[in-house]
Order: sequence, then structure tokens, then C-alpha cells
Amino acid sequence: MTSTPVPYIGRFAPSPSGPLHMGSLVAAMASYLDAKVHHGTWLLRIEDLDYDRNVEGADRGILASLQRCGMQWDGEATWQSRRLPLYEAALKQLQDDGLVYACGCSRKEIQDSVLQAGGPKGAATVYPGTCRHGLAPGKAARALRLRVPQGADAVYAFADRWAGPQRQDLTSEVGDFIVLRGDGYWAYQLAVVVDDGAQGITQVVRGADLLDSTPRQLYLQDVLGLPHPGFLHVPVVTNDSGEKLSKQTGALAFDTASNAADLLASALLPAARFLGLEVRADKVEDFWRQAIPAWARRLAQLPEHP
Ligand code: GLU
Repeated sequence: MTSTPVPYIGRFAPSPSGPLHMGSLVAAMASYLDAKVHHGTWLLRIEDLDYDRNVEGADRGILASLQRCGMQWDGEATWQSRRLPLYEAALKQLQDDGLVYACGCSRKEIQDSVLQAGGPKGAATVYPGTCRHGLAPGKAARALRLRVPQGADAVYAFADRWAGPQRQDLTSEVGDFIVLRGDGYWAYQLAVVVDDGAQGITQVVRGADLLDSTPRQLYLQDVLGLPHPGFLHVPVVTNDSGEKLSKQTGALAFDTASNAADLLASALLPAARFLGLEVRADKVEDFWRQAIPAWARRLAQLPEHP
């Protein structure tokens, strides 16, 4: 009996908060190459739900930069802002299951109560569950939070295809987390899971800054009845002081690169080098012809994780 291979569906999901930069190019390249190596589909989804951070025209700029780089997505690109009914339906499902509650705490109040309870200053804030059993008197609802499980069910472990085994206890390391923000914006965690599910994503390839979001996403997949995709998180490009590049600080010369040689030298080759790919090309088509098998070799070199 022959088994049918599972189709590969990957995606690149940039936020349109500025032009494609070296950090986002690396994530785009890794997800594109992984889809190509697996003869898969590569979707493009613009994550534009944080309306305060969206920059006018940045979405079109990112699409144009990807195309200039020779990374063509399959099918139509999608915009999260055009898919709001999907997030509403998911929230309704979570509410019907009694998993969501209104929270009236401000960020400062949460930090203060963590400090009062003897928690470390400056550490990632774990929501202490203040409104878990109802809004504290006199407080107005600001955000909607999802209850995380307690005990052993709170521990999410997964094998990242690049970074290896990961483990997080949602109760002690995260706490109940926001699915709808106080300003009415959908939280990244909810939207990304709903879309990955709706689009049938089988492999998520992205930057390692999202490694610690993955257990929350696995949990959301469980409570929404969605399958777990595979995950591969590539290292994050940092500046000289070790900070993650932002769209503001990491602008790439390739937006102004006038020819293929500039594009290769300023964008594609450095991104490939960062991923540890051996590619020497002076034409964009040659670059991809070499980069696809180089990615397969790179994956084969990753340590065998237990
Ligand atoms: N939109 C997110 C970002 O630009 C990436 C989301 C993801 O790949 O899950 O950082």
C-alpha cells in the first residue's frame, strides 16, 4: 500500500509596519525555500490588524520587494483586515466553551501586582489572573483573555525543526492571554492561529522571536479543534548591539538597488549567508536555482535533536 504524501502549505506573514528589511527578508527566504524544497505551496498573508503600526503603502511595498527578489507567492495574497468574521467566529467558539473572560487590568496594574507578589522586576509579565473569577469591583472591561489550562495540561512541548526541543508552562510563564485587545484590535495570537488553520498551513517557518508564542498557538489550535502545523524558527538578525532589527532600523538598500547585481549583493546573498547557505550567483534566477538545494543541505546539517 502506498501512502499519500501530506501536501506542504507554508506561508510568509509580514506585518506592514514598514518596508521589507534584512530580518523579514531572512524569514521570507527561509519559508519560501522550505516550501520549494518540499514542492509545496507558499502563501502570502499581510498581518495588518495592529492598525496603529500599519504604515500606508507598506503592504504593496513588501509585495513588490518580494517579487523583485524573485519570491512569487501562490494564489492571491490575503489581508487579515479583510477576514474579521473568521476571528469573530473563533472568539464565539471560545466564549461558548467558557474559555474567555473580560479583564479590566491595565498593563501597569499587572506589573504592580507581579511585583507585589515578589515577582522579578523587568521579567516577562505573567498575567496573575486578577479578573479570572470576574472583574474586580469598579473596573471596566478592557480586553478579553483566554484561560490557560492548569497543571500538566499547561505544559506545551514541541520539536522545532531548527531550534530543537522547546517547552513552556503556560500557567507559570504566560498566564491567561489576550485574544481581543482593549482597543478592539484582534490579538496576533488569535488571528495567526485562525488563519493558519483556515489556510491549511502545514509548516510555519518564521523568526525565532516568535518561538515563545508557539505554545500559546498550539494551545489555541487545541481549543479551536485545529491541527498543529510543524514549526521551524530561524535565528533573528540583530544589529551590532544584539537587538532585533526593526523595520525602522533595518532598512535594506535593495529598495533602491538599481540592478540585479545590487539586489544580490545587498539583499539576497547576505540573507542566504545569514541562513548558512552556500550560494554564489550573479543572476537572481541562478541564486534561487542554487539556494533551493542549499536549503535542503542546510536542513540536513542541523543537529539531530532528541
Ligand atoms: N506578522 C508577524 C511579524 O511580522 C509574523 C507572524 C508569523 O509568522 O507567525 O512578525
